Amino acid sequence: MKINNRNYTDQNKPVIGVCMDGTSYPYYEAAKDVMPNLQRFIKEGSMGMVKSVIPSFTNPNNMAIVTGVPPVVNGICGNFYWDTELEEEVMMNDPKYLKVPTILSEKSQNGKKVAVVTAKDKLRKMLAHNLDGICFSAEFANQATLEENGIENVEQGLMGKERPGIYDPYISVYCIEAGAKLLQKEHFDIMYLTTTDFVQHKYAPGDPEANDFLSKIDHWLGELDKLGAIIGVTADHGMQAKTNTDGSPKVQFIEKLLNEQEIRTRVILPITDPYVVHHGALGGYGTLYLEDKGQLEEAKDYLLSLEGIETVLTNAEAVEKYELPSDRIGDLVILSDAATTIGRTPEWHDLDKVKDGLRSHGSEHSQVVPMIFNKKLNDEYASKLATGECRNFDLFHFLSNGF
Ligand code: ZN
Ligand code: ZN
Repeated sequence: MKINNRNYTDQNKPVIGVCMDGTSYPYYEAAKDVMPNLQRFIKEGSMGMVKSVIPSFTNPNNMAIVTGVPPVVNGICGNFYWDTELEEEVMMNDPKYLKVPTILSEKSQNGKKVAVVTAKDKLRKMLAHNLDGICFSAEFANQATLEENGIENVEQGLMGKERPGIYDPYISVYCIEAGAKLLQKEHFDIMYLTTTDFVQHKYAPGDPEANDFLSKIDHWLGELDKLGAIIGVTADHGMQAKTNTDGSPKVQFIEKLLNEQEIRTRVILPITDPYVVHHGALGGYGTLYLEDKGQLEEAKDYLLSLEGIETVLTNAEAVEKYELPSDRIGDLVILSDAATTIGRTPEWHDLDKVKDGLRSHGSEHSQVVPMIFNKKLNDEYASKLATGECRNFDLFHFLSNGF
């Protein structure tokens, strides 16, 4: 069937899309000895590198993956944006910001059995939009009801254990495990399992904590594989260290700096979310709204002169280059280099939370992520994947047409 102008053929096996939040390939490479199932997928199935959407943040990429289209079409380009009519910073976690249906909802409305498990509840409402099936978060697994989530008694009935806390690395494992437990109980046509990147923000590839976490993820990927599913694993974005040589966070506080140049702006950092412990709202991407539009060129030139600021685009340029929705990105879009993050003012951020080091994402430098399938792609899709030009939001297109 056609969804958002792309074709999604029904498969006779369960199709499972997995988004491993913040997991770039070096994490798997460093954990290869403790991820036998994923290694088998890579060897006997298929793997290639794909590109995330910009900004390389969680919500825009998750929503791109489940709609199969970029932000310019689906409307989701961050956790926050500046609503010019309301004149306030609004959180883009409500389905009303979604401009198109999801593959998941369309399949479910077409009689397919669909289940979605997300680690964080912040994504749940958009993922569940018009979905006639199961959708719950590990975060609030205890509150799931048949009416709201299509399932109840998740902790005792399905999982046989309580959910971990939101800052417990195992919240993401719980999410993949829930997918396997659901599939053990009954058939599903399509599933989407999406984790959180707490571990990746805290630990580098190869750190014992990262490997331990990934070994547990691997166990449940293996269980899903045993159940005969076609599995595709990708990521919403990668992750990098953003620190000075002394270990302190490397930040350009652009709102403060522009103020000092007499350029008045409102800087929006769409990585901001209620779970700021991870990253102090510091990432590689920001947008800004100028008080005086006449200062556009001046602001652009000044920002580009700052060390670590790599790309500054006008609204029209950003729409063209990154397929972003013009109404939600302000006057300038700013991206930093691999090691730098973009801040507003030092006071605005809770820098204490990241004083021991900062790992984050948002720019083009966190854009390349793996896409791994447990089965061999047909020739047409194998050669597409091999180009390195496919997108993470092609995941369900590959799962539906590539075998
Ligand atoms: Zn993420
Ligand atoms: Zn993150």
